[in-house]
Amino acid sequence: METTTVIKEKTWLTRTKRPIVIAGPCSAENEDQVLETAKRLKATDRVDIYRAGIWKPRTRPNSFEGVGAIGLPWLKRVKEEVGLPITIEVAKASHVELALEFGIDILWIGARTTVNPFAVQEIADALRGVDIPVLVKNPINPDVALWIGGIERLEKAGIKEVGGIHRGFSNHGEKFYRNRPQWHIALEFRNQRPDLPLINDPSHICGRRDILQEVGQKAMDLDFDGLMIESHIDPDKAWSDAKQQITPEVLGVMIKEMVLREDYEDVKIIQSKLDYFRQEINHIDDELINLLGNRMNIAREIGTYKKDNNMTIFQPKRWNDIMDKCRVLAEKNQLSEEFIAKFLNAIHVESINQQEEVFRDKS
Ligand code: PEP
Ligand code: MN
Repeated sequence: METTTVIKEKTWLTRTKRPIVIAGPCSAENEDQVLETAKRLKATDRVDIYRAGIWKPRTRPNSFEGVGAIGLPWLKRVKEEVGLPITIEVAKASHVELALEFGIDILWIGARTTVNPFAVQEIADALRGVDIPVLVKNPINPDVALWIGGIERLEKAGIKEVGGIHRGFSNHGEKFYRNRPQWHIALEFRNQRPDLPLINDPSHICGRRDILQEVGQKAMDLDFDGLMIESHIDPDKAWSDAKQQITPEVLGVMIKEMVLREDYEDVKIIQSKLDYFRQEINHIDDELINLLGNRMNIAREIGTYKKDNNMTIFQPKRWNDIMDKCRVLAEKNQLSEEFIAKFLNAIHVESINQQEEVFRDKS
């Protein structure tokens, strides 16, 4: 088993203890909400950096799109009166200019912006000659090259402190997570750039409160450097992402309860290649089971159709065609004929059982 040890340079983003915690509301809504959230987060003694969305990239129009530049003086007050450094999302050059004017400490690029090289380049160009850390969220699609490409654009523009934020990947039909974590993608990011801090954003992965702790803990177990978690003084009334936000006090307890590996000091032990492969296998197993579930749903629908049309369940010609087609594909994928025959038979038996159930159903 091969293990790589990489000495990470201490940067603005990693110089505090691990995990570095970035917390604050999804959106800045008004001055009181921004300040009260900040004070209560500070009081937990677990938060290092304050986040708030000023310009919100919303999936559909007519949602709340952020208060805009009027919120920047509120964040300036947080920095001066509460003493927390501030990070906000920027999506274009005009955002960068305003953020710099109001003394924002760290910028982040959102998932919907990372997908667009023109937009990232515009931000990088606006930052030429500026010394400010920038975190880049993964693009909404699981594309490590595009993610790292965004970081490289900033590095080429002279930005010295960059890092990644893993916020999961959107997927049609996903119900458990809001954005599937696909941990192997984050581990691949780290394999390629072990020199960079990597933060996990459980809020946008989960989209709900009840599994935030376990996702954050998993990130800690995989040696992420920090967490970005959304927090609101009255979560259910939040103007955006209400279901995933938690109060500052709940967030404080969550961080306190995180179990951290003790050997973490200045030297970062990068997860072995084996860990990476295991995550990939876990991911593929999940996919296989989801796909089998989808296949059986369709089988049941076919069952209903056959029942309504007085057809038999088993249609040998159709089954032989499937077997022939799959045998060819299996060979191309270096799978033995014996294995694929057993595998397909098991699927077939289950499919027939499910259809029989539909036939038995009197309703
Ligand atoms: C956010 O952090 O509020 C946000 C919009 O995140 P993402 O870019 O991950 O969707
Ligand atoms: Mn949000």
